[in-house]
Amino acid sequence: MANATRAHKDPRGICVSVNAAGTAPCNPLLLAPSNSYGVPSFVARGYYVDQPFTCVGCRSEEVWRATQQKWWYEVAKGNVESGAIRCRNCRRAERERRDEARRDHVEGIAKKKKKKKKKHARNQAL
Ligand SMILES: [Zn+2]
Repeated sequence: MANATRAHKDPRGICVSVNAAGTAPCNPLLLAPSNSYGVPSFVARGYYVDQPFTCVGCRSEEVWRATQQKWWYEVAKGNVESGAIRCRNCRRAERERRDEARRDHVEGIAKKKKKKKKKHARNQAL
């Protein structure tokens, strides 16, 4: 009849304590595809942890929160090899600088094209 040794527990109930402060569970299925061979530490670990870093812009000590990492990798689909290098202020400054550079660049191209093409459509801004 029923075997007494049959009642062994399923070991798959492994439960990582992802509720610990400064962590967030990682869902590898949501990550951006990557060509890298290595497995990111947060995937191997199964969750993100708060990560201290020094801002490359102003050298201030910052913490990249586990929840921000989860958002960056799983929602914004950031490259799994990318990480935080700038604080919020420097990131904004950098973005503005980049936007401006891009705008100048685009305008520069537009001007060149205009020179080659006909000269109308000049006052169409706003
Ligand atoms: Zn900074």
